[in-house]
Amino acid sequence: MIHQNSSQSVAPDNPPGSVPAKADSAVEPTGASRQSKPEPGLYIVATPIGNLRDITLRALDILGGADLIACEDTRVTARLLQAYGLETPMTPYHDHNAARQRPALLRRLAAGARVALVSDAGTPLIADPGYRLVQEAVQAGIPVTALPGASAALVALSVSGLPTDRFLFLGFLPNRAGPRDRVLAEIADLRASLIVYESPRRLSASLAAMAAVLGDREATVARELTKRFEEIRRGPLGALAAHYAEAGAPRGEVVIVIAPPGAKAAPSEAECDALLAAAMQTHSLRDAASLISAQTGLPRRAVYDRALRLSRAGADTQET
Ligand code: SAM
Repeated sequence: MIHQNSSQSVAPDNPPGSVPAKADSAVEPTGASRQSKPEPGLYIVATPIGNLRDITLRALDILGGADLIACEDTRVTARLLQAYGLETPMTPYHDHNAARQRPALLRRLAAGARVALVSDAGTPLIADPGYRLVQEAVQAGIPVTALPGASAALVALSVSGLPTDRFLFLGFLPNRAGPRDRVLAEIADLRASLIVYESPRRLSASLAAMAAVLGDREATVARELTKRFEEIRRGPLGALAAHYAEAGAPRGEVVIVIAPPGAKAAPSEAECDALLAAAMQTHSLRDAASLISAQTGLPRRAVYDRALRLSRAGADTQET
């Protein structure tokens, strides 16, 4: 069965009036850093993944105060800058020119410039360019500072309803079926939720391959996160694959989150207590907590605290 979110928390793309046309009091009061130039160095600046209001005040400070913004597509970043009344010069830095651009950026950084690196959306370096620039800046002793913000991977995981205590971000899987299935087979036994970026065109085929290689696990397809047509669809991989095979490739951008092997819905407190009570008949309190934590996917500390409470309650009953 597939569950679909209602749109209760759907944020519109750019709801009318939600984004200031130019810097105004809504985006100004960010403290001393707004007034003074940032320290020289490389700044890794996360930008919104859809809703332009998902930008931090600190990101605006740096984007406004930098000498140069290195960005994937200057047209995309220009829209963000324009929305906040910023006019910082931009230079393109993407997969096709990065090797050529890097030495020039590093020379400017070494000479004391403040360079902000952004991608089209989300956190730079996460399935986006920037890794080598950061690596070489670090090697050259240039200060590197991250300004955290949205990343589709974590936004999808947080709404997925799937276990969040351990997860593996796989980025984009290989396009071709053979290499894709080999990657999936390598991590099939890993006890962690999996996060995959996927193109809508390949969504149905990928979900079907995941069901075949990983088993028919629970999964979530998070589409157009933070945008007007945000959609969260949950269900077993096979049913999700069938849905998209029938409905056709969806529009927009998607993230797939897949449950760990054997993950079941979190048990109720009463179910957890019953499992613990049974385990504590034959195991020490500590071992019983580890066992039930592994069995249920609940955090070990929480299960241990529960076991302690059960054991104390048992002792009290015996005393009275
Ligand atoms: N660096 C970005 C980040 O931190 O999320 C990811 C860049 S990667 C080139 C683009 C992929 O991220 C898309 O194909 C999609 O899988 C995912 N993505 C980005 N924005 C999204 C959104 N609003 N909703 C769903 N998926 C999104």
